[in-house]
This record gives sequence, structure tokens and C-alpha cells, in this order.
Amino acid sequence: MKTKGHPKWYPEAHVTCACGAQFTTGSTSPTIAVEVCSTCHPLWTGQQKFLDTAGRVEKFNQRAAMADKKKAEAAERKTRKQAEQASEAGSAAL
Ligand SMILES: [Zn+2]
Repeated sequence: MKTKGHPKWYPEAHVTCACGAQFTTGSTSPTIAVEVCSTCHPLWTGQQKFLDTAGRVEKFNQRAAMADKKKAEAAERKTRKQAEQASEAGSAAL
């Protein structure tokens, strides 16, 4: 093993989570702060929780609303076109 080039190892690094959980682990940093851990992650808690960074959930909802609006507009255009074609067919028959 080289004597130089190895980072300092902390076998009992202190980890604190945003939920308040604390535990120790081995790390090259003496203290670690995390946003989510195994006690509060939705996968283990079974509760839905959004880890919203920079309003991504909001953006997604906006896009979904916009898509619905476009779909409604497209459907309206389609029915209008069909009505026009029907009236043209009616006038051509005369
Ligand atoms: Zn946590």
C-alpha cells in the first residue's frame, strides 16, 4: 500500500438526514448531510413524497395541462373540418 495519495478515512463518519435520522458510516468526509435516507425514502416508507428540485413537479403539471388544452383544440378542429366537409358534400349534391 502506498503511504501517500490515500485520503483520510473516517470509519465513523456522522451522517445526518433532512428527516432527522442520524447514523454512522465509513467515509472520507467526517460529516455528511443528506436529503433522503433509508428511513424516509418513499420506497421504504410507502408514502408518496415529492422531492421537488427547482419546481419540476410544477413544470410537469403545467406541461400536462398544456397537452390537454392542445388535445381539446385538435379535437375541435377535427369536428369543425368534418362539419365543413359535410356541408361541402351537401352543396355538391345540389
Ligand atoms: Zn431521512
